[in-house]
Amino acid sequence: MSGQPSPAVQDYLKLIHHLEQTTDGPISTQEVADGLRIAAPPATRMLQKMAQSGWLDYSRYQGVRLTDEGRRQALLVLRTHRILEVYLSRSLGYSWDEVHDEADLLEHAISPRLLERLDAALGHPTHDPHGSPIPTRDGHLPASDPVLALADVPVGESGSVARVNDEDPDLLRHLADVGLVPGVTVRRTAASAPWGTIPLQVEDREVAVHAGVAPHIFVTLNAAPEGKESSTDPPSPDFNDPEASS
Ligand SMILES: [Zn+2]
Repeated sequence: MSGQPSPAVQDYLKLIHHLEQTTDGPISTQEVADGLRIAAPPATRMLQKMAQSGWLDYSRYQGVRLTDEGRRQALLVLRTHRILEVYLSRSLGYSWDEVHDEADLLEHAISPRLLERLDAALGHPTHDPHGSPIPTRDGHLPASDPVLALADVPVGESGSVARVNDEDPDLLRHLADVGLVPGVTVRRTAASAPWGTIPLQVEDREVAVHAGVAPHIFVTLNAAPEGKESSTDPPSPDFNDPEASS
């Protein structure tokens, strides 16, 4: 096992971790190459080298899987990225649509020592500005409440915005404009409206968002109030009381 992974290896680890979280089944070389916007042959060579170094298991037919150490390193890169996002937005006044690209650059450049100083100076934040949880310093992702993409929230149900995808600055500016940010209460008021919009109540305002943004917003549903007639069961039996989580 080599020590600190190189910046290129860190990018592979982060992407493969993301793919493991978001796709079912084995991850192919092609998916990795597409995610990094490179051709398949250099991706294959890099994956073979990373397998030799112990970061991942790789076979042509079974695809790519992180080893425990590979996953721990991927989470440390995510920790660095998300703490930097908090620092940029809280201490340097960056807006939430500006921090992701900047953190992508900086995450490879700062030492573990500086990272822990930043973490302490910020008061050990638990979430980045987009609502994603920050992994612990020993490389674990804290458990969080189950979430549902806004696109899948049933009509009439409400919840609070837990997190939003952070990679598209235009999307983030739009969400800030309509007030769809982590922590706000949102209710799906109807299935859909003309022109492909989804009608919502955000706090006490009526808002319509384009259907294309709904898959990028993740909501923790409120437990159904007692006695309320509902045709759908709550998606999870162990829903936390929203009062207790904030
Ligand atoms: Zn980010």
